[in-house]
Amino acid sequence: MPAEPPIDTPRNLFEAYERLAAGAARPIAGGTDVMVAITGELGPIPERMLDLSRLEELRGISLEHGALILGARTTYTEIRRSTVCREHLPALVDAAATIGAAQIQNRGTIGGNIANASPAGDTLPVLLAADAVLLVGGQRGEREVPMTAFFVDYRKTALAPDELILQVRIPLPAGRALRFRKVGTRRAQAISKVVMALAWRDLGTAGWQDVRVALGSVAATPIRAAATEAVLEGARPTPEAADRAAETLAGELEPIDDVRSTADYRRLVAARILHRLLRDAEGW
Ligand SMILES: Cc1cc2nc3c(=O)[nH]c(=O)nc-3n(C[C@H](O)[C@H](O)[C@H](O)COP(=O)(O)OP(=O)(O)OC[C@H]3O[C@@H](n4cnc5c(N)ncnc54)[C@H](O)[C@@H]3O)c2cc1C
Repeated sequence: MPAEPPIDTPRNLFEAYERLAAGAARPIAGGTDVMVAITGELGPIPERMLDLSRLEELRGISLEHGALILGARTTYTEIRRSTVCREHLPALVDAAATIGAAQIQNRGTIGGNIANASPAGDTLPVLLAADAVLLVGGQRGEREVPMTAFFVDYRKTALAPDELILQVRIPLPAGRALRFRKVGTRRAQAISKVVMALAWRDLGTAGWQDVRVALGSVAATPIRAAATEAVLEGARPTPEAADRAAETLAGELEPIDDVRSTADYRRLVAARILHRLLRDAEGW
């Protein structure tokens, strides 16, 4: 086992930004992804670590100006126990409940899931479908990055090396519904084969509006399925519309074969999950 890298533990954001600006330091929140990397088996070992455990600025769940605000250090257990999350974004609670098992949920954070940028990160489709915006910061100041602009390539994000994710801001428009489904090998401790979130606002006879179809484990990054969204936008989710949307989704996705699944399986499962979500939403 190689030597562990030195760890700095800043007491506030000011100190954290200073350390990040001084040179390569890998943030560590819950450590459930990053500790796997310090064995050196998955690539170079980080030179220095930046422990976020004393940064109170990165904690807390609140409602502000019609949005749900989650500090980057919010754990899955905190999300599952939060009455605010349960009431305003139950799909995120559903996603948190599928992540790892209790030990991982106690330590793993939403900021870590986002910054780790795995295409299989289970909260990421929910955040994409919910139009979440990230507040990120560093010595040069703070800025907002929409989730849709955050994942730029496989495991590459819009975060600069000297920046931290501070908060996840999730708008809560009236009448929006959001559902989450994950398919893995088993019910716990499973990396997703396909993970999906579907959001919409039901305008009655005018159909569905603001439809979002977001997926993980089917591309190099978590994605939105724009062509499928267009099929559902303004439509009612009748069986015919669901058939069309599922077919469009299967044609739109370009997943890969890997150790967990074949591309064909992923396409088929994604189409079926969508069909099922639409059926459940409309009750046919
Ligand atoms: C056994 C096991 C099971 C798992 N199961 C699942 C699963 O079912 N679904 C799933 O999605 N994931 C799963 N994971 C992966 C992991 O638990 C999650 O991705 C978790 O959310 C990572 O959060 P963390 O706080 O532990 O991140 P860390 O390991 O501390 O950090 C992860 C990455 O994010 C960076 N980082 C962390 N916080 C910040 C911040 N605020 N600003 C900038 N960069 C930051 C770190 O530098 C690092 O690159 C599993 C992991 C293990 C070991």
